[in-house]
Amino acid sequence: MANLEDLPIRNDLRGIKPYGAPQLDVPVSLNVNENTFGIPEPVALSIVEHLSQAVLGLNRYPDREFLGLRAELSHYLGHDLNQNNIWAANGSNEILQQLFMAFGGPGRSALSFGPTYSMYPNIASLTLTDYQEADRNSDYTLTEDLVVSAIAEHKPDIVIICAPNNPTGTAASAQLIAAAYEATDGILVVDEAYAEFSAELSASTLLQGRERLVVSRTMSKAFAFAGARVGYLAADPAVVDALRIVRLPYHLSALTQAAAMAALQHSDLMLANVEQIKIQRDRIIETTRSWGLSPFPSDANFVLVGGFDDPEDVFQKLLAAGVLIRNVGIPGTLRITAGTEAETTKLLAELSLLVG
Ligand SMILES: *Cc1c(COP(=O)(O)O)cnc(C)c1O
Repeated sequence: MANLEDLPIRNDLRGIKPYGAPQLDVPVSLNVNENTFGIPEPVALSIVEHLSQAVLGLNRYPDREFLGLRAELSHYLGHDLNQNNIWAANGSNEILQQLFMAFGGPGRSALSFGPTYSMYPNIASLTLTDYQEADRNSDYTLTEDLVVSAIAEHKPDIVIICAPNNPTGTAASAQLIAAAYEATDGILVVDEAYAEFSAELSASTLLQGRERLVVSRTMSKAFAFAGARVGYLAADPAVVDALRIVRLPYHLSALTQAAAMAALQHSDLMLANVEQIKIQRDRIIETTRSWGLSPFPSDANFVLVGGFDDPEDVFQKLLAAGVLIRNVGIPGTLRITAGTEAETTKLLAELSLLVG
């Protein structure tokens, strides 16, 4: 067997490690912000029914335009959107990659506000797009001044605002998004992977008359569908036309389309645990604060907790106790996904032993 170094791989990929959080088999897995509740049985049965229909047609390529799924997604989002405003892909990471392929690329640049989602620089480098990160305020909030002046300084072709922000949980108001839009000539992508957990208005409410605004969403988090790989966006139909140029033909399998449509028809059941997850999130915030740690406010399904002297040591000891969380590398902090009540109880019990 050869080594990677022996291959004529792209020079800019030499020495790079594949991206991804560790996938470990532990009793309590709170490291990648999944919805830890299982798929409700009636929904599972309905998905299987849709899949069994789809299986009979697998000799044919799938509907390349997946209009049925796009219609379901537009109904789910509301805000007078229709299927022409919607596009979908295998996770919102693929949506972001398609956006970078269409609007970034060599000689172009993207700007985001860090600390933020670590896939942005990754996708930028794979698409040969220059990537800059302006610093958030010290409490990780954004202000209009900060965003507008960073855009004026960098003049990016793509601006990405993650709202609520991963890994800090920080919300951004629709007013701030509107100000960012006015400040840029480029594409403004609002990554709303955690929107269903947020108290803020979705940027989808701003789409009318803003053809350079893209709202990226996913079924992986609140919707409890991470394993199915379905991300989507809402935007002007012209943005969808651009993505049709860069997507691979038939990128969304017939099985994915069938499963997602079935799940969306039961969105009330799929989202039934969002309120419970928010309660557990707030419980993590209140409890860790009462111990003298420094949790940051969160509009998502996770909490970034600061105040650890040695986060890696705490991470390892929790793991040894069967609880997997995430050390995202921000000094003094750990990121914890809010799970079920039982998982949160176990997490807090183990954590209390480590922080006194
Ligand atoms: C989880 C996450 C995504 C993407 O998830 P997919 O499973 O690819 O849809 C996108 N953006 C942020 C900020 C995330 O945390």
